[in-house]
Amino acid sequence: MRKQTLRKTLLLLSMLLFPVTLNYFSPYLIVQGSFAGIATGSFLLFPALFGSSLWFGRAFCSWVCPAGGLQDTCSQVVNKPAGSRQNLIKYLIWLPWVLSILAGFVTAGGIKAVNPIYFTDHGISVSAPPAFITYFAVVLLIVSVSLIFGRRSFCHSLCWMAPFMVLGNTLKNKLGYPSLHLEARTEDCISCKKCDRACPMSLKVNEMVQNRDMNSNECILCGSCEAVCPKQVLRVGFGVQKHPAANSNYTEGA
Ligand code: SF4
Ligand code: SF4
Repeated sequence: MRKQTLRKTLLLLSMLLFPVTLNYFSPYLIVQGSFAGIATGSFLLFPALFGSSLWFGRAFCSWVCPAGGLQDTCSQVVNKPAGSRQNLIKYLIWLPWVLSILAGFVTAGGIKAVNPIYFTDHGISVSAPPAFITYFAVVLLIVSVSLIFGRRSFCHSLCWMAPFMVLGNTLKNKLGYPSLHLEARTEDCISCKKCDRACPMSLKVNEMVQNRDMNSNECILCGSCEAVCPKQVLRVGFGVQKHPAANSNYTEGA
């Protein structure tokens, strides 16, 4: 099975399983649990996402995330690029939210219990009518933001998980150990801009190639640009990240 087919199949499966997994991504239950001194499923998941991003950047967003699958489905209907100014909004949401989790655990006197299925009957998130309302509200939010503001706008502006991975991604780029990253062979680029049109994160990939700067914290390492490039300029691969100026063949980053 080709890489893009496999990736899209996994995203579709994750999207279909969203009624089961919803609570494990919940930004609300983690706060509620913190005030009771309980480490919920999302309390365990979010640090794991940070950990995975230290080697795989934001690949979770393009291979696993159900909200990513939903948004990619929306872009089959409305496929307009998202504006880059949206990117800052998520940090304005993330910081007070993280502080409220910390305040919760301080108030509760620390972590008293770990319960990955906190408020989740038999581990299934949507198992009763009130949960259906929450589920459809979340889906409506993701879909409407994506349709109104452009491709994967929810990832750009509202996702509370993205900053964890941006942190890990920044760290791995700085330290330069072997990791998943995007690389480019600038000299072969014919500036056809097919990569720009294919990028689900609306990145100016051609500009990145020409500037020999493949580092973008909004890149989710999906490989869509790699798949459409007629000159095989782009490649998502695992290895040591070299400084662009030190590499005459590839401009590497993630
Ligand atoms: S698709 Fe390939 S050749 Fe075309 S602009 Fe992008 S990197 Fe250059
Ligand atoms: S730059 Fe390429 S790998 Fe990164 S998000 Fe865009 S299409 Fe995916």
